[in-house]
Amino acid sequence: MSLKGKTALVTGSNSGIGLGVATELAKLGASVALNSYTDSPEDHDLAARIAKETGSTVVYVQGDMSKPEACREWVEKSAKILGQVDILVNNAGIQHVGPVEDFPISKWDAIIAINLSSAFHTTAAALPMMRAQGWGRIVNIASAHGLTASPYKSAYVAAKHGVVGLSKTVALETAEAPITCNAVCPGYVLTPLVEAQIPDTMKEYNMDRETVIRDVMLARQPSKEFATVEQLGGTVAFLCSDAAAQITGTTLSVDGGWTAL
Ligand code: NAD
Repeated sequence: MSLKGKTALVTGSNSGIGLGVATELAKLGASVALNSYTDSPEDHDLAARIAKETGSTVVYVQGDMSKPEACREWVEKSAKILGQVDILVNNAGIQHVGPVEDFPISKWDAIIAINLSSAFHTTAAALPMMRAQGWGRIVNIASAHGLTASPYKSAYVAAKHGVVGLSKTVALETAEAPITCNAVCPGYVLTPLVEAQIPDTMKEYNMDRETVIRDVMLARQPSKEFATVEQLGGTVAFLCSDAAAQITGTTLSVDGGWTAL
């Protein structure tokens, strides 16, 4: 499969799943815009490194996905640099855990803004360009928490269910374009974010690393294995392929069986 001649914009892609997706799309020949809110020299070095490794054009374009105007401007700026928008992957996300009655209002607002509203704004900005060129793929990185809930994750679960609903609606509005829009729902993926939680959880439960992973983190993931960022990259690439042209408005779980339970 080749994505040569296509461009891909991936939000929240200087780390974790977004980086895995961006790298896979660049490997397949797409020109890629990386993103985060930081704009550090490391971000630009990262883009240069992936470009060198893959032979594709890879640029870093700063954009704060917590801000509506910045989301829209980021799409326009990236499209100007790369020439067009063929693939949009909405991946930026944050997490906060706490009971509803104590959940800080600022954390609720930030999670809804970054994990849900940014996908609305980037999609609104990208669709006119996709419609004009007659092809588009929108992939929203939701979560198993877009289909099920866990206690203490009210904002995250609400945002990810919202992402699934947004994906279905966009799919219906673009079904004849032809543009597809789908939500990918990962279970636990071993990203730096998740890796960083392991030492504290080991202390909290007085368990070794393997027990924490198996009995705490992957308690609801029947495969007892993390999904990998490479597997997520491959899943997004599949949704961008011709084989997936009639897959739209649906969710694709990459969760080791979590949502089959
Ligand atoms: P991560 O922390 O490694 O990556 C998050 C990315 O979002 C980073 O690139 C960060 O810079 C970016 N980001 C955060 N705030 C931003 C902002 N205001 N503007 C622009 N970018 C911003 O985490 P990850 O685990 O790779 O998560 C990526 C996505 O996958 C998230 O939407 C997350 O909810 C989802 N997800 C992760 C898992 C998992 O187990 N890791 C499971 C299901 C879903």
